[in-house]
Order: sequence, then structure tokens, then C-alpha cells
Amino acid sequence: MAAAVHKLLHPHSHAHAQPEPKQSEAHPEPAHAEAQQASNEKREDEKQKVAQWVDQKQPLSPNEIHQDPDKKVVGHSSRVLRQEDFELIKTLGTGTFARVWLVRFNNAQGSDRDKVFALKVLRKVDVIRLKQVEHVRNERNVLSAVAGHPFITTMVASFQDHDSLYMLLEYCPGGEVFSYLRRARRFNEPTSQFYGAEIVLILEYLHEKEGVAYRDLKPENILIDAEGHLKLVDFGFAKKVENRETYTLCGTPEYLAPEVIRNTGHGTAVDWWAFGILIYEFLVGQPPFWDQNPMKIYEQIVEGRVRFPSAMSPEARDLISGLCTVDTSKRLGNIKGGASAVKSHPWFRNIDWDALYNRKVRGPIVPHLRGPADARNFDDYEPESGNREPYSKELREKWDEYFKDF
Ligand code: AMP
Repeated sequence: MAAAVHKLLHPHSHAHAQPEPKQSEAHPEPAHAEAQQASNEKREDEKQKVAQWVDQKQPLSPNEIHQDPDKKVVGHSSRVLRQEDFELIKTLGTGTFARVWLVRFNNAQGSDRDKVFALKVLRKVDVIRLKQVEHVRNERNVLSAVAGHPFITTMVASFQDHDSLYMLLEYCPGGEVFSYLRRARRFNEPTSQFYGAEIVLILEYLHEKEGVAYRDLKPENILIDAEGHLKLVDFGFAKKVENRETYTLCGTPEYLAPEVIRNTGHGTAVDWWAFGILIYEFLVGQPPFWDQNPMKIYEQIVEGRVRFPSAMSPEARDLISGLCTVDTSKRLGNIKGGASAVKSHPWFRNIDWDALYNRKVRGPIVPHLRGPADARNFDDYEPESGNREPYSKELREKWDEYFKDF
């Protein structure tokens, strides 16, 4: 089972998915001219709204976020936006079947050139080949449901064309927390508390308002925005579980909860376990369960004995021990009180939760940026290969139904 498990656990490789430049419909038939004009007006209107959102970027309150996505300013499925509305500036990252681009509106002039986004592009054919249709649908639906949260990368809109799926996301120019952590070796307690607290607010919202388990918490999925606040990205494994249990094995070996390894069914409690691992990695510089061989990591996890360095404060140890409790019925975050029990833990005693949610507390690391489109915190990526399997008529007939809400 080791090889199969390990393969599943490492979903992120460097396959590429180049969006194809498309022909614009420049010469509509006269009968369609009116409809075309109406559609262009709608499109311009939508572009304006999106640009306005970039200017304000106000986080929404939990109740505002929870509204129907069609009533919110962000998170809807757009029927008018297209890939050719955007200028692709640079690749920011790649996943197994996605490529994320830094983009701005095509032909943007003056200050509008500073209105940039991250556009996540997924080729339908790759999504189908890698059996990720359900995961991608979950990702879009969860991002739509949570759009407007201060510490989750906002999906402004999603759209599709004959060949690809697109998620237009707010751009987080600071790059991955992972890079800062590796550079600093470890974070001090106040920095770890600040980041930890923002993550508690994310998990509280996801679990308690949306019934969603995130299932892939790790430093690589946490980006830093221009003001030094966290933004959680990559909702590829996020799933609405409510109070049910689910069985799909996913996550990253060092961060997997024991019940995922045992495959006894899991729910939102897996995120609290991973949160304990994350705090440990922040404070120590490496996760508590580690070995070259993933099978050995799993053995350590199900045993669940965390060793703490002598320098770690008693409050931090107590919090991590509570979160990394093998028995889910005794795990902090999953016991009575839910996220509130985590928030009132003594390790978070200095946190003003309201001020934090409203982004009034200054982040411990504020990235140095030359401007809104600065992408120095991201690596360079190879251009995409031209060899691409087409999304054939047969595939379309079988699968487009599954993408219709995108
Ligand atoms: P994902 O497939 O969502 O994990 O995205 C792949 C990579 O693209 C991430 O590891 C980030 O480096 C980058 N990325 C994704 N979303 C954003 C964003 N909103 N802003 C900046 N970079 C992003």
C-alpha cells in the first residue's frame, strides 16, 4: 500500500496547462449584433465591478460571507468574463493540472495597470485524465462560499471556455509562508501566535459556518498578502462534510491525522490535528513526525507521541498536545466549544480576536514590494509545452455537464 498511498499524498507535480489564446468574435452576424452588444456591455460592467473590488478589498463579516454567492460582490460564476480579457504577466505557480498566472485586465491604462489578480487555469482534459473532476468542483464551490473572508484568498469570479476552467483570485504578493519559515529557520512565539490565530479564524469559519474540512493545512498553502496577513490558498481537497465522515485519503504525509492513515473515516477534526503540527513547525522549524520513509512517519503519527524541545513554553506544549490528540473525541477544536475552546487557550491570551478579524493588527512580516504587480516572491517557471491533448467532442459530450456551474 505504501507506494499507492504516497502517490496519492503528493498531488502537486509540475505538469503544465497553457491557456490557448482565443479568437475573439470580431464579426458577429447582423442578427446577433444586438445580443453581442448587450453581452459586451455586461462584460464591461462586470470588469468595472471586479476592478472596484480590487480598490476596496474590504473583508466581509462572517454573515455577509455566508450569503448566497450570487448576492455577494465576489465569488460568483461569471457568464461573461473570458481569458482574453486578461493579460498574462507571469506564472506564479503550477500544480498537477493547474497553472496560476499573475494577470491584469487587457489594455489596462494608468492606475488600472496596478489592478492585478492571480488567475488559476485548469485544462478540462487534464482534470478528467487525473480524475479530479469532483475535487475541482469542490474547490470552486468552497471558494465561492467563503469568498470575502479576510484570511482566505478571495475568488472574485470563476468562468470557463470550451477548453479550460478559470478561477480569478486576489493576488497575494508576499509568497508562501513556507519560504519565510525556511529562511528564518523558526518563528518566535509572537509571530507564531499571530499566524496561528489567523488560522484559527479560518478554521472556525470553515467548520462552523460552512461545514467544510480543508484537509491540506501546511506552510506551502499559506501565502502572505501585501499587508502581512495570511491567505489560505489551494482548496483542491476542501470538502463540505458537515457532520458526516469521509474516506478519501488526501493531504501531505507529515500533516496527516491518525484517523486518515487508519482510514476509519474523518471529518473537520483533521484540520485541528494539522493545525497542531503547523504550530509545532512554526516554533521548531520542522514538523514533529518526520522520517525519510513515509511509512515510518505514519507509524509515529498513529502512536501520537510528540517530543517537545526543552525551550518550548508550557502553554505552547499544552496547546499542541491538545490539538495533536489521537482520540478525536478528546482533540482540542473538536471537543465541546469547538474553535472557541482553541481561542480561549492561554497561548492565545494576547490576541484581540475582533481586531484581528478586521485586519487591524499589523502582520509580523510585511513583504517589501516595488508595487502591486511585484512578483519577486515567486519562482520562475518553464513555459508550457505545446503538446496538448485536445478536449475532444466525445469528452465534451460526456463531461461538460459536470462543469456547467463553473
Ligand atoms: P495551487 O494549485 O492553488 O496550489 O497554486 C499553485 C501555486 O500558485 C501556489 O503554491 C502559489 O505559489 C501560487 N498561487 C496560487 N494562488 C495564488 C494567489 N492567489 N496569489 C499568488 N500566488 C498564488
